[in-house]
Amino acid sequence: MSDPTTELTGGPALPQKRRLVTEIPGPRSVELMARKQATVANGIGTVMPVFVRRAGGGIVEDVDGNALIDFGSGIAVTSVGNSAEAVVRRATEQLTRFTHTCAMVTPYEGYLEVCEELARLTPGDHAKKSVLLNSGAEAVENAVKIARYHTKRQAVVVFEHGYHGRTNLTMALTAKDMPYKHGFGPFAPEIYRVPMAYPYRWLTGPERCAEEAAALVIEQITKQIGADNTAAIVVEPILGEGGFIVPARGFLPRIAAFAKEHGIVLVADEIQSGFCRTGQWFASEDEGLVPDLITTAKGIAGGLPLAAVTGRAEIMDAAHVGGLGGTYGGNPVACAAALGAIETMRELDLPARARRIEEVMLPRLRALAERFPAIGDVRGRGAMLAIELVRPGGKEPDPAATAKLAAHCHRSGLLLLTTGTYGNVARFLPPLVIDEALLTEGLDILEAGLAKL
Ligand SMILES: *Cc1c(COP(=O)(O)O)cnc(C)c1O
Repeated sequence: MSDPTTELTGGPALPQKRRLVTEIPGPRSVELMARKQATVANGIGTVMPVFVRRAGGGIVEDVDGNALIDFGSGIAVTSVGNSAEAVVRRATEQLTRFTHTCAMVTPYEGYLEVCEELARLTPGDHAKKSVLLNSGAEAVENAVKIARYHTKRQAVVVFEHGYHGRTNLTMALTAKDMPYKHGFGPFAPEIYRVPMAYPYRWLTGPERCAEEAAALVIEQITKQIGADNTAAIVVEPILGEGGFIVPARGFLPRIAAFAKEHGIVLVADEIQSGFCRTGQWFASEDEGLVPDLITTAKGIAGGLPLAAVTGRAEIMDAAHVGGLGGTYGGNPVACAAALGAIETMRELDLPARARRIEEVMLPRLRALAERFPAIGDVRGRGAMLAIELVRPGGKEPDPAATAKLAAHCHRSGLLLLTTGTYGNVARFLPPLVIDEALLTEGLDILEAGLAKL
């Protein structure tokens, strides 16, 4: 994966090398953190208290001149790298022509081109249409609106460990109390949570997980909610904030078949797993899933805010004219950026890059799991990988060890994110254009951190 990273980072090339010139955080970042404290609402947390000067390829450079290895991609957003050449070129060109007209007032071609790409790239060869929005949560909200309108039903089924956003409806769809929902109720009604096929924590073991979990889900929908009251089942094909849980093989196809049989709209939330991240354009493809609707955001536009709902034309067309929209949805600069990001994904074959990252990382993570009993599970696909940390000898989640491991990585110049219902998952989301040498160096830092636990 020798990478012409200089071509990918726009402007002066950012050296693809980790470099620490101060402690982390450095003095300039400490100063800025004090200003943040004084001016930014407390609710906005900070994973790593360093302020960024520039970023590109697999490197984030801070204001003190430290160059950090990026294992986060701004939470699975900059899959094509930061300031990727085609993103900068197309967005800049658009900026000089016009910045906004509102797609609902006077439309523009870029909006159509993004919808055409979404129709081509998402699973299934049926007729598709899209609506463009600003954020992932807004996409999920719109998918629910559309599914309810189409089915004339109200109930929405979601899963344990699911994450769908921070607006009122998407908080209701999200499983985890702290920090996402705590104190923010009351939540939207007609949301029902059912079990997720979580192989590592399935009580009767991973082998029976898919079948048993699907049976429970189907029974709960049938007996407690009513299949013909159910508008939509919303599911992440690989769960993001819930801990990179890969549903046991066979679970999703069973749920999809049940949804189809009962006229329930199957919504795949691919906001984190989509756009090449898992080694395919969309994670749904892995088990041949063809969702009725698919929500995308994060990786779609190389860092500019854009989101979409894409799906069967007859479902997408259900709502009346004027029923969907928003002032900024499908902003022309964000659309241009998305076209640049998609161009980059095609040109560099980023699904293949994601598979290569898995090839490099997964065996190494598995070897670490053999050596360190704190690693209870290694999972994920492509460049969406994770380790779950537990108290040695059992499966009790160990969020303290996870925090210690992250702190070690941060001090050593590796930007690592944690996640999971129990706060005990270290997740790896490198930009898909990362240098292999940086990937290996990041793993070395992780290994040293595990040895220190
Ligand atoms: C991040 C995320 C969302 C919310 O997206 P925002 O852009 O933060 O609103 C929804 N679903 C999934 C699966 C996500 O990972």
